[in-house]
Amino acid sequence: MKIKNLFSEKNVVFSLEVFPPKSTTPIENIYKTLDELKDLKPDYISVTYGAGGTSSGNKTCELSSLIKNKYNIEALAHLTCINSTKETIENTLKNLKDNNIENVLALRGDIPLDQKPIGDYNYGFELVDYIKKHHDFSIAAACYPEGHTESISLDKDIERLKQKVDCGTDYLISQLFFDNNLFYEFNDKINKKNINVPIQAGIMPVINKKQIERIVSLCGASLPPKFIKIMNRYEHDKNALRDAGIAYAVEQIVDLVSSGVKGIHLYTMNNPYVARKINESIKSIIGSVNNDLAI
Ligand code: FAD
Repeated sequence: MKIKNLFSEKNVVFSLEVFPPKSTTPIENIYKTLDELKDLKPDYISVTYGAGGTSSGNKTCELSSLIKNKYNIEALAHLTCINSTKETIENTLKNLKDNNIENVLALRGDIPLDQKPIGDYNYGFELVDYIKKHHDFSIAAACYPEGHTESISLDKDIERLKQKVDCGTDYLISQLFFDNNLFYEFNDKINKKNINVPIQAGIMPVINKKQIERIVSLCGASLPPKFIKIMNRYEHDKNALRDAGIAYAVEQIVDLVSSGVKGIHLYTMNNPYVARKINESIKSIIGSVNNDLAI
């Protein structure tokens, strides 16, 4: 099924994100993770694409295929282009299609620091444009409520986003954020620019202070005082930090869903316990909003 169609069937689309296991991790671990995530009945599961060429693409395809064909859950394969030739991208897309995958998250990827970019693709919109013109996938793209780290301003970034959407993006998934007001302001701004495709809000629960600090330094998300207080107060108590992180994410989601967000995309970090706890607290809320459509 094409994920873009879910947005007309549901008021809120709920998805989970996983990453392929490292080659040193036994494959059984991902089966265990997926067994648990399946019980949460997500609308789809997305699979990240590691930095680097063909081998990371194969892993994404392999795991997406497992999700789609063994677990019978819709799969969204991430695909980055900055590090790939046109030929590699075409082969990856064919491989996805051969594995019954109908959904791609088209990304530029981070510019590699240690090698010269290949140059076949320089921006995400070029990949969206290529897929739209040559294939029949439902196409998602990334957006940044606080602006992309390389962008000189949020307004400029939104201008570029408009171009990416106009090339054939069916829906957007946002970068993680911890301050819902920034997401609402972003929505108002993009609506004014006639960007009207559905957006799923990207939510990442904090379960480890170091990990969140590293991610935030990479993506530039701002940390509200309430969030910093939680991290500082419980940083040395693993379970307390995890539980406070879960509670914070739940509060964000309840507010977003009540405010009419079209979707929630949970960055699970392959941690089914956290995903399950969050799901337990939000399923009746998402269910209630989706029931409104059925009435
Ligand atoms: P673009 O849309 O190309 O934007 C990148 C920058 O270029 C922005 O600053 C934009 O303003 C600017 N820009 C765009 N168009 C133009 C133009 N025409 N002229 C000049 N400037 C322009 N990375 C991975 O490696 N693997 C993953 O699996 C992965 N999954 C992700 C999932 C989500 C939901 C998100 C939000 C990000 C993900 N990323 C992933 C990170 C992403 O690859 C990086 O943020 C990357 O730096 C930007 O990718 P993009 O597709 O958003 O780029």
